[in-house]
Amino acid sequence: MDKALSKVGRTGDHVKLVVVTKKHSAEEIQSAINEGAEIIGENQIQEASSKIPQINGFKEFHFIGHLQSNKIKKLLQLKPALIHSIDKISTAEKLNEELEKNDSVQEILIQINTSDESSKFGIDPKQCDSFFNEITRFPRLQVRGLMTIGKNTDNESEIRNGFRKLKTIFDSLKHKELSNVSMKYLSMGMSDDFEIAIEEGANIIRVGSAIMGLR
Ligand SMILES: *Cc1c(COP(=O)(O)O)cnc(C)c1O
Repeated sequence: MDKALSKVGRTGDHVKLVVVTKKHSAEEIQSAINEGAEIIGENQIQEASSKIPQINGFKEFHFIGHLQSNKIKKLLQLKPALIHSIDKISTAEKLNEELEKNDSVQEILIQINTSDESSKFGIDPKQCDSFFNEITRFPRLQVRGLMTIGKNTDNESEIRNGFRKLKTIFDSLKHKELSNVSMKYLSMGMSDDFEIAIEEGANIIRVGSAIMGLR
């Protein structure tokens, strides 16, 4: 991380490291925390619900997976510091409703599909403007930035182009003054591409196998 930061003159910038612990046991996660992992990321609510209550000493739990509306209640019980993966107005609406019942608020990121891969979740960059106009309707949602998953390819420039696309959208939204929206976090980069992501401006990376081992 430090090498990538200094390569592009970002020395001194802080990048949050989300340690992605999916498919690893509560015991393995606890060992990672004891070794210094501070932020734990999981992508399935069922799995997270069975493990998170068993571990302790971490600073934040982040939810990074696709969010189905029928699992929202269960997710909120785990008190996620950040949900990385909102990509539908209908889900946002249900989340807002649930938060209102609890009289609480939630920091979220909006997931964008920057790789033109239809298999991936995330909103189409062309739909961004209309999505962001709608998301301001939900006062309980505090939009704090954007998330993307890098293209699944060995072609470095294609991966880099996707990250660059997200940074451009991030910068343009930063200049709009939308209520409940502040562009603070850019979540991109995983085990195989986090250096490229940091070079392109990421300030949150999500790393699983490079830290936790193979799943
Ligand atoms: C699994 C996962 C990661 C981490 O992937 P690795 O390649 O193991 O680093 C990051 N982000 C999301 C959304 C994931 O599902």
